Amino acid sequence: MKNKDQLPVKKALKLNMRALKAIYRRYPQMVLSCLALQIWRAVTPYVEIYLSALIIGEITGDKDPRRLKFLILAALVSTAVIGLGSALLAKWRDTQNSGRWHKFNWLYSQKVLDMDFADVDDTKTHEVLSTIMQNQNGGGWGLTRVIGCYEKLFSSVFTLLGGIALTVTLFTSKVPESAGAYTILNHPLFVLLVIAVMLAVTYAAPSLSNKSKSYWSRNADQNRLGNRLFGYFGFLGSNRELAEDIRMYRQDIICDRHNGDKESAFYSKGIFAKLSIGPKGLYSAAASGVSVIFTGIVYLFVCLKALAGAFGLGSVTQYVASVTKVANGVSSFISTIGDMRANGSFLSLVFEFLDIPNNMYQGSLTVEKRQDRNYEVEFRNVSFKYPGSESYSLRNVNIKFKVGERLAVVGMNGSGKTTFIKLLCRLYDPTEGEILLNGINIKKYNYWDYMMIFSVVFQDFKLFALKLGENVASGSEYDRALAVGCLEKAGFGERLAEMPDGLDTYLYTSYNKDGINVSGGEAQQIAIARSLYKNAPFIILDEPTAALDPIAEAEIYSKFDEIAGDKTAIYISHRLSSCKFCDEIAVFHEGAVVQQGTHEELVSDKNGKYHELWHAQAQYYTKE
Ligand code: ADP
Repeated sequence: MKNKDQLPVKKALKLNMRALKAIYRRYPQMVLSCLALQIWRAVTPYVEIYLSALIIGEITGDKDPRRLKFLILAALVSTAVIGLGSALLAKWRDTQNSGRWHKFNWLYSQKVLDMDFADVDDTKTHEVLSTIMQNQNGGGWGLTRVIGCYEKLFSSVFTLLGGIALTVTLFTSKVPESAGAYTILNHPLFVLLVIAVMLAVTYAAPSLSNKSKSYWSRNADQNRLGNRLFGYFGFLGSNRELAEDIRMYRQDIICDRHNGDKESAFYSKGIFAKLSIGPKGLYSAAASGVSVIFTGIVYLFVCLKALAGAFGLGSVTQYVASVTKVANGVSSFISTIGDMRANGSFLSLVFEFLDIPNNMYQGSLTVEKRQDRNYEVEFRNVSFKYPGSESYSLRNVNIKFKVGERLAVVGMNGSGKTTFIKLLCRLYDPTEGEILLNGINIKKYNYWDYMMIFSVVFQDFKLFALKLGENVASGSEYDRALAVGCLEKAGFGERLAEMPDGLDTYLYTSYNKDGINVSGGEAQQIAIARSLYKNAPFIILDEPTAALDPIAEAEIYSKFDEIAGDKTAIYISHRLSSCKFCDEIAVFHEGAVVQQGTHEELVSDKNGKYHELWHAQAQYYTKE
């Protein structure tokens, strides 16, 4: 089997270190508290082992009551201090690690927020992120595993150091010459032989265990596929949005074909079950067997030396306990390195995501906050191709709009209207040409500052399952009167009056069981209210009335001037009747602005696109 997913140890360890540093930068106390507790837990048992050995030595040796009293007191005090220290460190660790899962997910969310929108919009980015999540949720691989690995690594290293300190005398203390044949135990070669056998056995156990574990990463493709199928099909049945279709078309049968497939990765006849019966299971069993051999050798060597008179009974307990701990330390060290190596391939995917560069130029100019809202935006010869696309979605667009204007952008589906808005909001940068705000290229402004001058109601807007008021204000501290005013302007006033808790009513039931469900049209009204609450100088409505019934649509139009107030409103629609009232209409066709003017001007141009579209759609509204 080709070991294609196992990284070289050095590379994997570097990735683990990088991941630890990244976590430390964001959550230093989380890392420090975990490591401190592990060091404490690794070192303190030796105090007890050492004191117990002294007590047993005293009981079986000199039997001095004063020294015994002192040793017992020391043992009691140290046990109390160790216990208290452990409890305090554990409390610190638990506090810093609460919500660890959420904190890691936050790192990914933050990255999505910080990356260029072109990458957010790219399906490849989401495939990588979804694979990272599947690895994390399915097997705990990726960032979540890093701290655990370092905990084990620190624990094993400190266990080793403490154990070695208490074990050195096992090898240096001599059997007396009078012990006859036992004096062979003093021979340096014999000592070296014992150490070599111990090390070999100590190395073999975790190596075999790592070999067993490596089957996970060797078969990472099947592991991922299994998780992916489960992640998708396993939860479809409980998805509320799909419930109607699933019943209507009995789609549960298709889902079940994947869920119930015994041959798929994690099921009884799948690859991991076969490997567990076969080599994976054998390596794991061999690892356990080999550990027992180690314990046997330790007991034999220590007891033979004690029998020959090299040391007393107290030291026997000390040596057996500490050598066993040293072995556990080595074993845990090797198995942790194996774990880190296996995690390396998952971490490289994590960094593939976290390292997505920001290619968009980030300016630093602040957008002047003008009381007069005197902003002017100009598209100067702008052309645009989506990344990876051969054809232009916008071609040589020249358009200018000023404060207070009502601009309608009309055109057939696919004519470039939404792309135009995406460029205006700097979700993408033009491939050619430039966009200017008050005469300055928008790239030169601070990105978030520039965003503040726009309110957009996208076609596929989303509301949160939070309180109505929080949705409108995008925050929990807000001006309630203003929120109510915005909802009323957007046509949601009557519905608001019926709501039992007014602005405090939860939307949807995913977060609060008393939440209310709103229709598509009502959701759109709330989204419009949200855009008004932001009070940005530009308000952009992308097909704003698509989900509204004709009465609600008419209401929005009749009040549109009042709604938009002194804002510059950009209105995108393929329904021409919605745009009649705008000061200026730009007609998009195949990515270009083919006509511009008022409704009257455009409709009277019999050869124009607008005339054609108007008459094609007229049948829907002339009867009214
Ligand atoms: P409209 O809003 O007028 O319906 P769009 O601006 O959405 O039109 O689309 C304009 C053109 O750009 C269409 O040909 C569409 O297929 C293409 N397009 C839109 N989004 C993408 C994208 N993310 N990647 C590649 N092409 C796209």
